[in-house]
Amino acid sequence: MTTHRLHMRRALDLARLQAGRTGSNPSVGCVILDRDGQRLSEAATGDGGRPHAEELALHKLPIGAAAGGIAYVTLEPCRERSNGSASCSQRLLDAGLAKVVIATRDPHPLGSGGVTRLKEAGIHVELGLLQAQADELYEDFFAENGSNSA
Ligand SMILES: [Zn+2]
Repeated sequence: MTTHRLHMRRALDLARLQAGRTGSNPSVGCVILDRDGQRLSEAATGDGGRPHAEELALHKLPIGAAAGGIAYVTLEPCRERSNGSASCSQRLLDAGLAKVVIATRDPHPLGSGGVTRLKEAGIHVELGLLQAQADELYEDFFAENGSNSA
């Protein structure tokens, strides 16, 4: 297994550990590497569904630490937040990440569009790493929020 896959597998493990504790929000895992490939931070969605995984993982870091780095996220980072705070795609942009690797897309109306937003901002997005495992994890969430097959 490549290092690339190992980081996503770690993110999936983090998400699985929180599964069932995040209310109506999906349990997401996030691992952040710096520009040299060193793991800087990791997190899963908080109890009750907040904070989001990306938000927590980035919050632990000094400003600028993740610049030029890579984020591994098990589910597409949200495009907008229902409570009006900064979305995860915005936070990833602000952190200056060079690349975001995403296991599977989010069918939720507020979540979907994160990939487009990141790409439009010039971030390299890789979609579908270990997707089958993520799809299995989010089976119930997808059933309630629409298929992600489109
Ligand atoms: Zn989010």
